[in-house]
Amino acid sequence: MADCIFCKIAAGEIPSTKVYEDDLCLAFRDLNPQAPTHILVIPKDHIQSVDEIDASNEAVVGHIFSVIAKVAKDEGLDKGYRVVSNIGEQGQQTVPHLHFHIIGGRDMTWPPG
Ligand code: AMP
Repeated sequence: MADCIFCKIAAGEIPSTKVYEDDLCLAFRDLNPQAPTHILVIPKDHIQSVDEIDASNEAVVGHIFSVIAKVAKDEGLDKGYRVVSNIGEQGQQTVPHLHFHIIGGRDMTWPPG
């Protein structure tokens, strides 16, 4: 999608620090990390948010979750980590392209703010 920063990262038009890539998805380090490990996993095709997941695109989301588990292992997050996807205005989503945050390397707090 034109003007989507994560579409541009997926297309290699904007640089990112990639940690994993395949035909369907990309994982790269967050520019503004909230923990020692903070990685974003995105589908290469544009999906706006979790709210747009349906039967037509659910396969890529399942694939992304297996990639999340692999990336977490590769990053040594053996003590645990958190996977977050912010959705829409109240969910504090700032980039309208589906992404899952992998956050780890420190103790998390609950409930989230
Ligand atoms: P969210 O607020 O859940 O939509 O998450 C968007 C995330 O994208 C934030 O954590 C930003 O720090 C991150 N971000 C924005 N632009 C870039 C970029 N060019 N490279 C890496 N991370 C980015």
